[in-house]
Amino acid sequence: MIYLDNSSTTKQFSEVTRLMADVAENNFGNPSSLHQLGYESSNVLRKAIAQIDACFPSGGRTIVTSCGTESDNMALVSGSAKLKRQGRKIITTAVEHPAVLRTVERLKEEGWDIVLLPVDKEGTSSIEALEAELDENTVLVSMMTVNNETGTIQPVKKACTMVHNFAKEHGTRIFFHTDGVQAFGKIDLRNSDFDLISISAHKFHGPKGIGALYMKNGVNLPPFIMGGGQERGFRSGTENVPGIAGMGLAAQMSCTDMDEKNKKLSEVNNYLYNGLKANIKDIFINGPETIGTSLDEPGSRCPSLLNISFEGVRGEVLLHTLEQDEIYVSTGSACHSNNTGDSHVLTAIGRKHKEIEGAVRFSLGQFNTVEEMDIAIDRTAKAVERFRRLGSFR
Ligand code: PLP
Repeated sequence: MIYLDNSSTTKQFSEVTRLMADVAENNFGNPSSLHQLGYESSNVLRKAIAQIDACFPSGGRTIVTSCGTESDNMALVSGSAKLKRQGRKIITTAVEHPAVLRTVERLKEEGWDIVLLPVDKEGTSSIEALEAELDENTVLVSMMTVNNETGTIQPVKKACTMVHNFAKEHGTRIFFHTDGVQAFGKIDLRNSDFDLISISAHKFHGPKGIGALYMKNGVNLPPFIMGGGQERGFRSGTENVPGIAGMGLAAQMSCTDMDEKNKKLSEVNNYLYNGLKANIKDIFINGPETIGTSLDEPGSRCPSLLNISFEGVRGEVLLHTLEQDEIYVSTGSACHSNNTGDSHVLTAIGRKHKEIEGAVRFSLGQFNTVEEMDIAIDRTAKAVERFRRLGSFR
């Protein structure tokens, strides 16, 4: 099997699976219980939270959620509720995940003024547009760290500084949220000043159905889920102890030796890209050409992603053909589509319907090798050649 769909989800680390089984078996006490079993479970949670905290900027806290989607919802809904007396404007980008876009649509129905920043042809959000839109009515800016379809690293560092400076100059408060779901474990987020960061464990070799929202000290959002006061009152509900333990270990493992792993990931990604270009005519990349691995390289491509359009071929057909050889890729548009069924991200970067139809997202992880890429390149080239010869998709 050659798994190239790591942006959809990742294979759980075996160490994580073993830990979760052990915790489920031996730490079944409710962390809120006052007896020894409860105490032991709360210790498991404390350890896991410390592992996650270590991957975030210092001076904040980790609120556990059920997934990246919930983290995004919490950041936007609770963040806007907190500052609603100050203003009614939220700025985000045209290429966010539906977890953000659907939430701001709802907020718009409730009377919020929503601005979607445009992106350039490589998918980088416009800093100039952000500057023009910031005003005293603005209370929240949400810009993803890495786009899940093109891999574009967004100018989040610059945007965050701009937003905070604006607020300071005008004596207002504006929260800067970033959806870090595709970045966490690949792009170091520690050296940043973000107020809110969303992550999701299954994107970094942790379990599904568990995520987190980083909240900078002093942000103190109102509760998102009301009840027994767990998660320091921000998000009630008895904790998923094995899931949190698994997320903690996965975070620690993913954020260790990031530079080294990114170097290898970049090599494998470039190898795949160069191999596809050398062996297949009439293809083009959706997103930036150049790979980058830090917040200081906005406008470059995270080494986990490579989105290619194959002219005259339908991505979905290619996906199912590669699947026959146990090569798993994605078209990247299944749940991210606009009314025409086209990806809203590829539409925003100016791609035409046919070009979007021909797009395949290869998303790499730390287990992929150059040898696997040789096979993927060969099978993709053969499939594209065959479909083009048949001419049935023009
Ligand atoms: N944000 C981004 C950028 C994503 O890529 C995804 C999932 O693909 C999500 C949010 C949602 O995460 P989850 O699947 O944990 O709800």
